[in-house]
Amino acid sequence: MSSAERLAALLVEAGQDGTVIFSGAGISTESGIPDFRSPGGIWTRYAPIDYADYLRDPAMRRESWRRGLNTYATIVDASPNAAHLAIADWWRQGLLNGVVTQNIDGLHHKAGLPAEAVVELHGNAHSVSCLTCGACFDRLTVQARVLAGDEDPVCPNCGGVLKSTTISFGQGLPPRAIAEAQQLHASARLCMVIGSSLVVYPAATLPEVTLDAGGQLAIVNQTETHLDHLAVLVAREPAAVLLGEVARVTAR
Ligand code: ZN
Repeated sequence: MSSAERLAALLVEAGQDGTVIFSGAGISTESGIPDFRSPGGIWTRYAPIDYADYLRDPAMRRESWRRGLNTYATIVDASPNAAHLAIADWWRQGLLNGVVTQNIDGLHHKAGLPAEAVVELHGNAHSVSCLTCGACFDRLTVQARVLAGDEDPVCPNCGGVLKSTTISFGQGLPPRAIAEAQQLHASARLCMVIGSSLVVYPAATLPEVTLDAGGQLAIVNQTETHLDHLAVLVAREPAAVLLGEVARVTAR
């Protein structure tokens, strides 16, 4: 049996609402979004801006918006690939209980998943919110102000600090997202990891929640993970290639 056939069989075996997808940067590289943590990635070229510094220092906010003009241009133009589309199909077929992602690119939504099906552990790059009153704005609208010379744009409603709704270094992950992710992993009969090396918290521990509850683990990732030895299937193929194949197998 090929990896695609085995993965398809595992999905069917897990049944209705039986599978949780855990996705990381590796699922989006084939949509042209670089893995920001990889060598040459943006975080190795720029020192990350700490959340506390962002709050305190207007110079840091100006720097952050300047960088964002570059990084967001890549994200806003990206399209979902075969892996995102396959996952959206499985959702429509009722096979998934949800998708938990480390990605901020919104490509699961663009592939057709409803917002309530996706837990974004690291937030979302498409919106900006006011840290004082909570008002939300489209990223491009705020960037237009930056491009027009407003280098540290403030909230038009209350004058508060604006920030992209991604989670920064030094900023805690949203507790509700973590709780939802844990619940989805605990109730899944199969956890399918797609494109994550499972190195950062809570990625490193979530798949074990499924295992501890008696479920199975499948890992599709191009490099080794510390949980490979506990998985019933480990595949090194690019996510878009393999999941595209699984979609063809299950459509037969
Ligand atoms: Zn405000």
